[in-house]
Amino acid sequence: MFNALIVEKGEDGKTSAAVQQIGEDRLPAGEVTVAVEYSTVNYKDGLCVGPGGGLVRNYPHVPGIDFAGTVEASDDDRYKAGDKVVLTGWRVGEAHWGGYAQKARVKADWLVPLPDGLTTRQAMAVGTAGFTAMLAVMALEDHGIKAGPVLVTGASGGVGSVATAILSKLGYKVAAVTGRPEGADYLTDLGATEIIARAELAETIKKPLEAERWGGAIDAVGGGMLARLLGQMEYGASVAAVGLAGGAGLPATVIPFLLRGVNLLGIDSVMQPYENRLRAWQRVATDLPMDKLEAMVTPATLSDLPKIGADILKGQVRGRVVVDVNA
Ligand code: NDP
Repeated sequence: MFNALIVEKGEDGKTSAAVQQIGEDRLPAGEVTVAVEYSTVNYKDGLCVGPGGGLVRNYPHVPGIDFAGTVEASDDDRYKAGDKVVLTGWRVGEAHWGGYAQKARVKADWLVPLPDGLTTRQAMAVGTAGFTAMLAVMALEDHGIKAGPVLVTGASGGVGSVATAILSKLGYKVAAVTGRPEGADYLTDLGATEIIARAELAETIKKPLEAERWGGAIDAVGGGMLARLLGQMEYGASVAAVGLAGGAGLPATVIPFLLRGVNLLGIDSVMQPYENRLRAWQRVATDLPMDKLEAMVTPATLSDLPKIGADILKGQVRGRVVVDVNA
């Protein structure tokens, strides 16, 4: 028997989440059984744990879109008992039972071996949000980062915190946009060289082009803020669009693309092929300062998840929440 956070749907259509003891026979089909050590809380997890069920495809369900742990049993030659592994994406925690349990069973294709130099806890301090930040940095590098600072929006969230730390370690100046100016010290400690108040970029665009300010951007907010920053990019610079914490609409014009050659790069962490995942995780192990990573972490247990899930949807979580499923 093992502990799992099970989300159930009642006859009234309402969902509820509670920690239960269940048997291994309840685990879904898959080639590899993993003794989960850590999982995390991402924005999608907030949707899946909360009332309404968000992205959950079928009930009962175990959320948790990422996890790291040790292989317990494997029917696939690529993994054997004792191997350390990490998982992000592939709709685990949405359509397939995820990491909010002491055991998970998944397809071998969805896993990545834990890179040397990372513990399972560090891997989950990074988690889906940090892995996505790494993908965004790699996409900007592929297209060339220009001379000005790199703008990071939603900076004190999970993606933003890790993006700030990685870009700073790589030697870029980082302008961090936050709605929590009281958290400026947190962001400068992560390596931000400039703090921009959210309100400064929240105003609706009045002119499609403004002064060129940013050599690149990682945007976790979307909506009006993404529209606004497109007009502030340097000629030929790129914006890696990661999230929609501030809205899914895009009230922009085509002018920044036509007259400034701006690139808008969509980042999707869910369906990344194995080689890309491996490369990004290896870059995380080398390019993310581990002392800064620790400063981002809030620890949690399975029973804390319903409350933290609600908090992340309100934009009230700072950095990364690491769930010790055995605590
Ligand atoms: P967090 O909730 O940790 O961070 C989001 C941050 O955005 C907040 O901390 C806050 O930062 C800011 N924010 C929140 N609400 C608003 C608002 N209304 N207007 C402007 N800013 C706001 O989430 P994550 O960092 O984990 O994820 C960020 C986004 O990226 C989400 O939309 C998520 O779904 C998406 N995502 C996408 C992935 C992909 O594969 N493309 C993978 C992972 C996440 P501050 O207080 O500093 O302003």
